Amino acid sequence: MTDHKTLTTSAGAPVPDNQNSLTAGERGPLLLQDYQLIEKLAHQNRERIPERPVHAKGWGAFGTLTITGDISKYTRAKVLQPGAKTEMIARFSTVAGEAGAADAERDVRGFALKFYTEDGNWDLVGNNTPVFFVRDPYKFPDFIHTQKRHPKSNLRSPTAMWDFWSLSPESLHQVTILMSDRGLPTDVRHINGYGSHTFSLINADNERFWVKFHFKTMQGHRHWTNAEGADVVGRTRESTQEDLFGAIENGDFPKWKMQVQIMPEADAEKTDYNPFDLTKVWPHGDYPCIDIGVMELNRNPDNYFAEIEQCAFSPSNIVPGIGYSPDKMLQARVFSYADAHRHRLGTHYEALPVNAPHCPVHHYHKDGQMRFFANNPIPDAYYEPNSFDGPVEQPSAAEPPLKVSGDADRYNHRIGNDDYSQPRALFELFDDDQKSRLYSNIADAMFGIPDFITERQLGHFEKVHADYAAGVRAALIAKTAAQKVHTEAAE
Ligand code: NDP
Repeated sequence: MTDHKTLTTSAGAPVPDNQNSLTAGERGPLLLQDYQLIEKLAHQNRERIPERPVHAKGWGAFGTLTITGDISKYTRAKVLQPGAKTEMIARFSTVAGEAGAADAERDVRGFALKFYTEDGNWDLVGNNTPVFFVRDPYKFPDFIHTQKRHPKSNLRSPTAMWDFWSLSPESLHQVTILMSDRGLPTDVRHINGYGSHTFSLINADNERFWVKFHFKTMQGHRHWTNAEGADVVGRTRESTQEDLFGAIENGDFPKWKMQVQIMPEADAEKTDYNPFDLTKVWPHGDYPCIDIGVMELNRNPDNYFAEIEQCAFSPSNIVPGIGYSPDKMLQARVFSYADAHRHRLGTHYEALPVNAPHCPVHHYHKDGQMRFFANNPIPDAYYEPNSFDGPVEQPSAAEPPLKVSGDADRYNHRIGNDDYSQPRALFELFDDDQKSRLYSNIADAMFGIPDFITERQLGHFEKVHADYAAGVRAALIAKTAAQKVHTEAAE
């Protein structure tokens, strides 16, 4: 017979009966002094924390990053030195759906990585796309509102989505990727990940280089058509969780090739596109991808809530040798991601085991929610500067100054910005079948919205390529005809 441990209260006292509540007589009411009953009900009421307003539905696993290449001339980051092996966790997600949404939906996939380096946590919080819908964070809350539910109908609104996109031509690049095959991946083992923003690399001589990070799937790309996706959702809403969890349980560990594109600091003044614009890629021909390592996911979390729901990624987490850039979206996310975690999880969210660095941590933040960690070893050193040998700054971690020029103003980011050439370069990569699926995916997504919005968006497709606009227009006409036949048959 198993030697069971004693069930206790959360205060450690033995629980005498976990089957029957305390009542006044067998048929009588409950007693307020049944503290364990109240404690169980109160805990249940508190089992949910605020879900992420975006990227609420997620899947994740632990793994390792191994560096095989040598970019030491560009960066002194220990995590990126040849031979470095670093423990990490990844969380993937859809963007728009709530925590219970179906997995097999057409949407961008979040691709968030936390590397537990010896110099602190480095978080790379990107997507499966190298670009984004907007380039100015002023527009981010508006954009997200169009992806979420309408305030009156509580339904998703294609009208709102296409109204916003057609009034924001910088979205065309990302919209084209979203509506292409890569917009509905079968799971997350078969997607690429992109750090998306431009970051800095800083070398031992304190020189800065601009960098883009890429993670290329070694499993190959796999996608579903809209019809296949609908079929999958009809059978299971958890297709990605089943795939990732199942593969890792079976020892089939997914891997990604890690690559960087590197730009000398002075080049940022010369490119004919703004290299800090999140709606643009750096063409591979100008800045080739350099292989630097392999990321492998090889351990499922033991507790989904503790390790995936509470895993707090933030682009603010960088380490010596890696820095930010003037990308406006990155600058806003450096504030807003950490702030989201302070709200969702509590002030000291970084002390939770999944978020805690694997290196020593010494700071002077004091009280607040989740203050469950010990004092500095010297309790008198609780402010800085102090005379009691408390932790001190390390000037060697400083970055070179970031060169800036220009007057503070609200510069119109749409004037003189070419929003069409890069979507065109992508469109021209697609073969005829890919183009035809692009047209029909857009027609599915646009169907039923007001004509004036359709026409405005077709005007943007026309500027990308005449075939793009003509293809979408034909797909919309075909869909309208098919819908008419379907409606008449039903009557
Ligand atoms: P390249 O021909 O060198 O690169 C084209 C890249 O397009 C491929 O390497 C692949 O990226 C990506 N790609 C292929 N099919 C799709 C798809 N269905 N959805 C999204 N991406 C796809 O040309 P350029 O570097 O000059 O880029 C041309 C266009 O390719 C860009 O305008 C951009 O739209 C797209 N692209 C470029 C990337 C870059 O960093 N330069 C990255 C991703 C897309 P991958 O190797 O990452 O799988």
